[in-house]
Amino acid sequence: MKIICIGRNYAEHAREMKSDVPAEPVYFMKPDTALLKDGEPFYYPGFTKDLHHEIEIVLKISKAGKHIDQKFAHKYYDEIGLGIDFTARDIQQVCKQKGLPWEKAKAFDHSAPLGSFVKKDKFADPNQVGFELKINGKTRQKGHTKDLLFSFDQVIAYVSQFVTLKTGDLIYTGTPEGVGPVQPGDVLEGFLEGEKLLSFSIK
Ligand code: MG
Repeated sequence: MKIICIGRNYAEHAREMKSDVPAEPVYFMKPDTALLKDGEPFYYPGFTKDLHHEIEIVLKISKAGKHIDQKFAHKYYDEIGLGIDFTARDIQQVCKQKGLPWEKAKAFDHSAPLGSFVKKDKFADPNQVGFELKINGKTRQKGHTKDLLFSFDQVIAYVSQFVTLKTGDLIYTGTPEGVGPVQPGDVLEGFLEGEKLLSFSIK
């Protein structure tokens, strides 16, 4: 399976990163070794001094597809959940300045903690759901899918022009504003429409 991540999909986050709001979706990938599941702790890596949290809604692809029409994109995922797109911000800055790929900053082991999923049908409209990240009980990021620059269906249609989506692939759909550093000892909890789907600690 592969992990596809959408960058700068919320305008306020693009602004806080001093980046342009993109005219078309920006995506990158993480390998399956990036996954961290079942509430396992995350060990702060030695290669960064500025590890940032990015809470994101995650789509689980339920059937294979290529060149998916936006009209039918909703048929290609049936569950949604929450994950973190951990980013070594200090390394990413250097990569950006040098025009290098982001893998070192984004695709390292356990850089994609993943919570549990709920059926998409649970929500009247997946484009109208709120989500939140709390660290040590305090709200640090709050987002709503109405603010997505590119909807889930647009993202699926766009990415599938370039890469075939397969059952079990994951799409991290972008983070809202409020990204910031985590420290050893922090407890991260993610909520989708008030339901806790993600919980783990930093060691
Ligand atoms: Mg992200």
